Amino acid sequence: MPSFDHLVFDNGYAQLPECFYSKVTPQALGNPRLVSVNTRVARLLDLDPDDHAGMLAVTAGQHVPADADPLAMVYAGHQFGVYVPRLGDGRALLLGEVRNQQGEKWDLHLKGSGHTPYSRQGDGRAVLRSSIREYLCSEAMFGLGIPTTRALCLVDSETPVQRERMERGAAILRVAQSHVRFGTFEYFYYRNKHAELKQLADFVIAEHFPAFVNEADCYERFYHEVVKRTAEMIAQWQAVGFCHGVMNTDNMSILGLTLDYGPFGFMEAFDAGHICNHSDFQGRYAFNQQPDIGYWNCACLGQALSPLFNNDVDVIKGILAQYPDAFAETYSLLIRQKAGLAVSQKNDSSLFDQLFTLMQKSKTDYTLFFRRLCDYEPDGDNALLRDLFVDRDAFDRWCKDYGVRLSAESGSVSERRRAMQQLDDNELVAAGVSRDMVRLSIGIEHIDDIIQDLAQALSKTA
Ligand code: AMP
Ligand code: MG
Repeated sequence: MPSFDHLVFDNGYAQLPECFYSKVTPQALGNPRLVSVNTRVARLLDLDPDDHAGMLAVTAGQHVPADADPLAMVYAGHQFGVYVPRLGDGRALLLGEVRNQQGEKWDLHLKGSGHTPYSRQGDGRAVLRSSIREYLCSEAMFGLGIPTTRALCLVDSETPVQRERMERGAAILRVAQSHVRFGTFEYFYYRNKHAELKQLADFVIAEHFPAFVNEADCYERFYHEVVKRTAEMIAQWQAVGFCHGVMNTDNMSILGLTLDYGPFGFMEAFDAGHICNHSDFQGRYAFNQQPDIGYWNCACLGQALSPLFNNDVDVIKGILAQYPDAFAETYSLLIRQKAGLAVSQKNDSSLFDQLFTLMQKSKTDYTLFFRRLCDYEPDGDNALLRDLFVDRDAFDRWCKDYGVRLSAESGSVSERRRAMQQLDDNELVAAGVSRDMVRLSIGIEHIDDIIQDLAQALSKTA
């Protein structure tokens, strides 16, 4: 298997005009140490998972792979509802795009690599704490089947980085099929660079939506697909209790991937208005706002794409109008699955509304509730479930309704239980990532060994 210098790079983004990026060389971290390697991502890239020296040197910014062409991507974005005309990779670089043997293209995106022209007041660095969070959570999301960026490896260093206190500089090598954001389109739209806007759309469509190329309604299909993917991704977030925390349009992936893990959190005690970002004073990105914010962000993208639709607002509105159904369809399916319901019935949403009202009142643990629901016995006292609620009588009434609803299902109790448990095993792990990343004891295959590496690394730095 090849090492970094032998990977096949196919740097399409670097072939776009210079106004799309700035070419920047990574700034090396001091005394770096490889903390963890994600061997599955290495295989995805056809990279030798044992090429630890190469991973360390590249991720620490000491060595640029032979055919890489590092650049900082420029973009703009709506941050907390306010348009910011120029953002961009302020502490990250697109090292290049790797083409694997299956013909898939993967961006190698180095996060924590030092200053770029888009760093503004920032230091261009990432710290170990936040890098571990991104590294682990993105893999947990992948394990949950939620579209996401991933990371090849994590490097720690002795480069001091000032945050509220002094911390250790770190870097991850992030991997995704594209790092183009809604904000990349906004950047060109609001600068009236409509030729470049079209070039960007054509680039993304050719790379990622080849079936749409040469279709008369190519841009409509593209926008429709992004809206659909975004709605479905956010439905998946809601189903597992994931709160992103900074859903600015510059953090929205054009491929509908979960992107930019910052102040994210998994909801523990059920609170529809849970805010995981301490600087989100208005609760703009609260848990229950995420679906609407996804819609708002898709509207921003529609605006940015409007020149491609001859400014026909009705076309954009017509596509955007499909968001609520796309969201609702995925969300109701996932919630039904969590509750062990294979078929859909018209009163299901009312059953779940009642449940969430009860959970809100009792601050019931979101993940634990569905875990215990796996063991629901139609004729039992369901004491463990009942214990999660303050108003036991109200819960008993709900439980009775749930029992009646379950009797409309055709599968056996053990089949239902097995399906629910399988779904839940994954969710418990993801919830654990945020609760206690290091003491995580229940592992899904994907992140088990990473957790062990990290636990060791943290004990060394503590
Ligand atoms: P975020 O809210 O993390 O998505 O970042 C918003 C913008 O700030 C992006 O353009 C980032 O590249 C930039 N940024 C965030 N942190 C830093 C940093 N430490 N140094 C330079 N730029 C940063
Ligand atoms: Mg960002």
